Amino acid sequence: MAVESKLKVELVATTQFTAPTDIDWEPDPQASDAESLVEFAGRACYETFDRPNPHTAANDAYLHHIIDVGHEALLEHASATLYIRGLSRAAGNELLRHRHLSFSQLSQRYVHSDASEVVVPPAIAGDAELKEMFLRAVDESRFIYNELLDALNDDLGEEQNSLLRQKKARQAARAILPNATETRFVVTGNYRAWREFVAARASEHADVEIRTLAVECLKLLRTTAPALFDDFLISDLADGTAMATSPYIL
Ligand SMILES: Cc1cc2nc3c(=O)[nH]c(=O)nc-3n(C[C@H](O)[C@H](O)[C@H](O)COP(=O)(O)OP(=O)(O)OC[C@H]3O[C@@H](n4cnc5c(N)ncnc54)[C@H](O)[C@@H]3O)c2cc1C
Repeated sequence: MAVESKLKVELVATTQFTAPTDIDWEPDPQASDAESLVEFAGRACYETFDRPNPHTAANDAYLHHIIDVGHEALLEHASATLYIRGLSRAAGNELLRHRHLSFSQLSQRYVHSDASEVVVPPAIAGDAELKEMFLRAVDESRFIYNELLDALNDDLGEEQNSLLRQKKARQAARAILPNATETRFVVTGNYRAWREFVAARASEHADVEIRTLAVECLKLLRTTAPALFDDFLISDLADGTAMATSPYIL
């Protein structure tokens, strides 16, 4: 029987910053390491470590100014890594289009699950009849997948290395698995790339699954660098799902 996977996003790494000891500048105590590093990089451009402008003396005001004037290259110095589980291969394909993020994805050739782990699209999950039809199709594709695996393992019988034999069988049989099959990623991005991802995918025009992911990423990224993401406003759409948008995104 198919097993339903639910989206789970966790922060697993973020930037650490150590200010040079021979520069007369202390990071703002309210700022995170990521935020302090971005400010440090900006101040290093102009040697404004003495905070000459009172309007941008505080870290959050400085970072808001950077975003306001479009000096977003500074955001590339800080990064965060998220571990994403419970995403469909369909949404994973959309995630992979973001060229400035770095990915490590669960291998379907090496990792074999005895059950079909799938993400049920919300429009289907909310309708008992559609969901039953959906899960039946998943089970049928799984049945064929298992049949193909057995047949391919027999066909590849001359391959002495059983790991290689299984890999060859899985890489062929997986062609029959549905787009809903669960995938997992470790994703690392600098804060400029994360902002671009959130802007594109938390939009109401994006598919609901990747939009839900983008909003979850936004919430986690905000915990690591609030001033770099507090221009995004999260709101609810009529269907109860969330979206986010920023006045800085055209
Ligand atoms: C609502 C929606 C619908 C979509 N529908 C489709 C679809 O039907 N078919 C489809 O194929 N894709 C579709 N996409 C994916 C889309 O085409 C992009 O591949 C994806 O959003 C990644 O964004 P990006 O290419 O702007 O930037 P990223 O790869 O995230 O890069 C970020 C930014 O860097 C800059 N950049 C990156 N690479 C280059 C480059 N080579 N040259 C110049 N500047 C660059 C651009 O400013 C870019 O916006 C859709 C996306 C959305 C949000």
